[in-house]
Amino acid sequence: MKPRVLVVEDEAPLAAMLRYNLEKEGFEVEEAANGEEALTKIAERKPDAVLLDWMLPLVSGIEVCRQLRRSPATRGLPVIMLTARGEEADRVRGLDSGADDYVVKPFSPTELVARLRAVIRRAQPAAGAETLRFADLTMDLGAHRVTRNGRAIHLGPTEYRLLKFFLEHQGRVFSREQLLDAVWGHDVYVEPRTVDVHIRRLRKALNAPGERDLVRTVRSAGYALDVED
Ligand code: CA
Repeated sequence: MKPRVLVVEDEAPLAAMLRYNLEKEGFEVEEAANGEEALTKIAERKPDAVLLDWMLPLVSGIEVCRQLRRSPATRGLPVIMLTARGEEADRVRGLDSGADDYVVKPFSPTELVARLRAVIRRAQPAAGAETLRFADLTMDLGAHRVTRNGRAIHLGPTEYRLLKFFLEHQGRVFSREQLLDAVWGHDVYVEPRTVDVHIRRLRKALNAPGERDLVRTVRSAGYALDVED
């Protein structure tokens, strides 16, 4: 079945260009010209991914993204933000709002398609797979069991959810705020520093003496499930 993409873009020529390129690459394309229409269309029929323009009339792309992340039905829906802005601060704001990726205009259609395929692929293991793996680490979702190199790992509920989230998005760097939203949820207020505490516990549980650290700290950016080269 063709992957369905909702293109949310108010500039008709750009929307037409996106439709042309995506259909050529085998995607089924839906369009929305503003945030309200996007939210309505997503509620009616959830697409496999959303290409969301930052600058939209009425409801901004950032706000649309926040609303999608707030609802359990659309929390895992892959979103790529499209924007004319390229500032690092804007990039962080875009990702903080819950976007999975970020593409700056003007962009190459080939790159956009590659990123789109990547976010759709990343979103899939959460639904189907029973076992998540990374390096010598295994998480059996059915049995709620984690092992590393055959050794049983005992995790608290928060560390378990944190690790599951990392396993579903391997190699990607998440800010403390993003981890809070994804693992703790939007409705609870937790100090960003709390994330550091749980990351420390997770590391302690995962890494036996002499083993590689599977959690990478990225200075001023956040954390990733990754190994240093
Ligand atoms: Ca626009």
